[in-house]
Amino acid sequence: MSPPAASSPKAPPAAAGLPQKSSAQKALDKLGLRRDIDLALHLPLRYEDETRITRLADARDGDTVQIEAQVTHSELVFRPRRQLRVTVDDGSDTCVLRFINFYPSHQKALSVGARVRVRGEIRGGFAGREMVHPGFKAAGGDLPAAFTPVYPTVAGLPQAYLRKAVLSGLARADLSETLPPDYLNKNLPQPLSSLREALQFLHNPTPDVMLATLEDRSHPAWQRLKAEELLAQQLSQLQARRVRAAMRAPALTRQVMAGTQCTLHEQLLERLPFRLTAAQQRVGSEIDADLQKNIPMHRLLQGDVGSGKTVVAALAAARCMDAGWQCALMAPTEILAEQHFRKLISWLEPLGIQTAWLTGSQKAKERREALAMIESGAAGLVVGTHAVIQDKVVFKNLALAIIDEQHRFGVAQRLALRSKMTQGGEEPHLLMMTATPIPRTLAMSYYADLDVSTIDELPPGRTPIVTKVVADARRDEVVERIRGQLAEGRQVYWVCPLIEESESVDLINATQTLEALTAALPGTQVGLLHSRMPPLEKKAVMALFTSGQLGVLVSTTVIEVGVDVPNASLMVIEHAERFGLSQLHQLRGRVGRGAAASACVLLYSTGEAPRLGETARARLKAMVDTQDGFEIARRDLEIRGPGEFLGARQSGAPLLRFADLATDSALLAWARVLAPVMLDRYADLAHRHILRWLGGRAEFLKA
Ligand code: ADP
Ligand code: MG
Repeated sequence: MSPPAASSPKAPPAAAGLPQKSSAQKALDKLGLRRDIDLALHLPLRYEDETRITRLADARDGDTVQIEAQVTHSELVFRPRRQLRVTVDDGSDTCVLRFINFYPSHQKALSVGARVRVRGEIRGGFAGREMVHPGFKAAGGDLPAAFTPVYPTVAGLPQAYLRKAVLSGLARADLSETLPPDYLNKNLPQPLSSLREALQFLHNPTPDVMLATLEDRSHPAWQRLKAEELLAQQLSQLQARRVRAAMRAPALTRQVMAGTQCTLHEQLLERLPFRLTAAQQRVGSEIDADLQKNIPMHRLLQGDVGSGKTVVAALAAARCMDAGWQCALMAPTEILAEQHFRKLISWLEPLGIQTAWLTGSQKAKERREALAMIESGAAGLVVGTHAVIQDKVVFKNLALAIIDEQHRFGVAQRLALRSKMTQGGEEPHLLMMTATPIPRTLAMSYYADLDVSTIDELPPGRTPIVTKVVADARRDEVVERIRGQLAEGRQVYWVCPLIEESESVDLINATQTLEALTAALPGTQVGLLHSRMPPLEKKAVMALFTSGQLGVLVSTTVIEVGVDVPNASLMVIEHAERFGLSQLHQLRGRVGRGAAASACVLLYSTGEAPRLGETARARLKAMVDTQDGFEIARRDLEIRGPGEFLGARQSGAPLLRFADLATDSALLAWARVLAPVMLDRYADLAHRHILRWLGGRAEFLKA
């Protein structure tokens, strides 16, 4: 899913006269393999053992083995479907080779009497042991001396080409030592080998090694690579932190506004219709402490959906305006931004604060006025979408930028925000908010460059949401449930499936749902919200739902459902198996905002597959089991692994390719200790190390 209509720069037309890159070259580029060192660090995913021939009698079910045997039988069968079945015998045992797709040439090469070398996974089948679609060639010929590496690749880049490129990159790359000699063995379970040895080994492992230690990456050569990678990541983040610590930001100290006895901050607190939770107070003072320093804040405020981040943001904004500076709040979609805007003006305008609203869809005149207010400083607070970081926007004195759902903004946008707002050598403070928390240990170890504040309790009085997983076939019962809610004067969300990249198909789906629900619920207004609608139309539909005129809102987009309608008490998610866990959790957070008991129905389809996949089932189960965003994040991490987990949240954060934060905690601890030492005492080595590992991506680390 891509963010909505952002200002995505178009790629420039290809320069004329430059030599055309071959498709393999382009594929290497796509993999990010540009420098020799990048090639050398492109490591095999796995290895195939073609170094030896296994006797069939010695092979266990589930092993991937290479055998040499003679074809004793070959036949075409047509049930259950057309296939080629070939029986081979190696003197110790027999085995059936089964092919569904095959050419006449295969049939010929596998005719009775032929001696073949076959490689594949051996399985116990109905009719004895078999291999399905094994690789094969004529028997005889040399056996390779080393395991055959299998590299991660993309279409258009054959293994053989890639391997050649990797090996020549390895031969040319500068692999000189970057680790200070006294740290090679310090605080590590085992001494590290040199990078050169490790790489040479991993690209050409000798057959005397246990393949298992390569596959599970416990081999010393892998340890070296993982240690290097973790160190590069810690170094770059620590460096970024130090660079920022050397920058200056306005220190936002408390000032009483002219003509009043107390600060805006105090007045706002006073006027809130509720008391802050203990967690809100705690994160509030963490933020306050940062804002009073003359070093730019770089803080992530995480808290579950509904935990009350907005008021914390408003208090930070008040702190900023109290000191006489401007504050900007940016949200990824117009609906989210507008929701913030309304809430903030309802809190701040009575206190005499002017707020400017900036969005891509507003009228030219309105926009001009907003820009003028921002430039003159009349507007203390600016709220909007990406429009806030466009070139024409000039702030008088911006000191605090708040980004909601920051992971939905790309790295380039975050960079633009920072650079645009730097004035007179001073950077603004940055507060990023997210409702998809990163587990604490992961955050602390991984984001050495980020301070994290966590709201870990919900405001009192929320009723738990009952979550049910229901087969699509029982849709009628769900409609019955909707009737029940409507009869009680409640409202309902129905979220339609997200089908990859195909918004038109999504739309057809949603329209059908809209029609079906309209027919099934006479007397109820059912509305439709989809991503292709112009912003004004979206706004109009949302307004109808917020005011209660629509009983049911059918929506195709996850993003646009970032709304606060306390009267909504039922959320139906169609094809829930297609959503990610954090998305499901976010969606569910749209109900249960009022006092009424709320429910979430996860409809799953058994149409295409006979049963739900394992991970889909794990996701749905997690949703039923818990409503705690942190527990959800923990399960998500478990289901997906840290690489993907973080990848989905932090576009641009350097992902770990080799190390695993869960299993490599000893190496991580080593890297965390070493990184500051290296920056202080071995700056040269540190620089070379970062360059080696992060090379061209370094600029992204600043975002
Ligand atoms: P989120 O963290 O998801 O952005 P919001 O800031 O939108 O959550 O808050 C959710 C709702 O809870 C809002 O209606 C907000 O006014 C209300 N709220 C926030 N803090 C408290 C509190 N301490 N006590 C009661 N209600 C609160
Ligand atoms: Mg929010």
